Amino acid sequence: MKILVQFSGGKDSQACLIKAVNDYGKDKVTAVFCDTGWEHAVTYDHIHSVVEQLGVPLVTLKSKKYKDFVDMSIKKGRFPSSQRRFCTSELKVIPMIDYILSQDESFIIIQGIRARESKARAGYAMECSYFLEYFNDEVKGLYHKKAVLEWCKTHDASVLRPIFKWSAQEVIDYILANGQRPNPLYERGFARVGCFPCIMCRKREVQLISKDKWASERLIKAEQRMKDETKCGSSFFSPGYIPARFCSNGQYPTVQEVFKYVNRNDAQLDMFELEEGYSCMSLYHGLCE
Ligand code: SF4
Repeated sequence: MKILVQFSGGKDSQACLIKAVNDYGKDKVTAVFCDTGWEHAVTYDHIHSVVEQLGVPLVTLKSKKYKDFVDMSIKKGRFPSSQRRFCTSELKVIPMIDYILSQDESFIIIQGIRARESKARAGYAMECSYFLEYFNDEVKGLYHKKAVLEWCKTHDASVLRPIFKWSAQEVIDYILANGQRPNPLYERGFARVGCFPCIMCRKREVQLISKDKWASERLIKAEQRMKDETKCGSSFFSPGYIPARFCSNGQYPTVQEVFKYVNRNDAQLDMFELEEGYSCMSLYHGLCE
């Protein structure tokens, strides 16, 4: 049985990858990275450096339908939002399920989810079947349901969450104790290092992004491309992300307006944040950090 570790380049999945190598041996372990094409260059380097240090193979999965996060958003005519989080399903869940179905073997899938990340995550199980929902008739609209149920007749995909009860500090300590460093973006003050930025990014992180030339220019360009190629003008940040009086059109803030707002001396950086925390609450938890 192959051990797949969902590796996003974040600290939790890095600790899981190290732990899997320690527990099962590197020959049994494969790191799986769902590449949205929207991660920071530092994260891509970090992912390759970690797998190289551990001597494990890396499988990089990408959407077959969309080139990357921006291409997906343009083709859908809007950026994803916390209410319409199609980025996780299109760029992470579907490529992961396609990969599993393409393999003629059973898997243990290791996810770096911690209970303390959010109330919702605290309610997850430490172990379960990856395709649990596929056996619940009340869950509708599942991707490739027939093919998944067919695959499950002869294969197994179990999920383990070995760091479920760990604190963030324990995760960092474990990485350091094993001779590695966490993603350098944490040292620059970022709390999340997946999509850069995630559509649910905190304002304090947007403030840091506004000072990162590479990431801020990429974000401004993405929003400009959306305007030029769709004529719909969907903004990256949702209405209400900053107070309406700071938006020139009174509703949808542009990236530049958000940058300006988060750098004001009196900006309320901790207001208007989502209650559910900032992790993806997808059915196939653990794909977004
Ligand atoms: S990390 Fe954020 S932007 Fe990326 S796929 Fe998950 S929810 Fe979407």
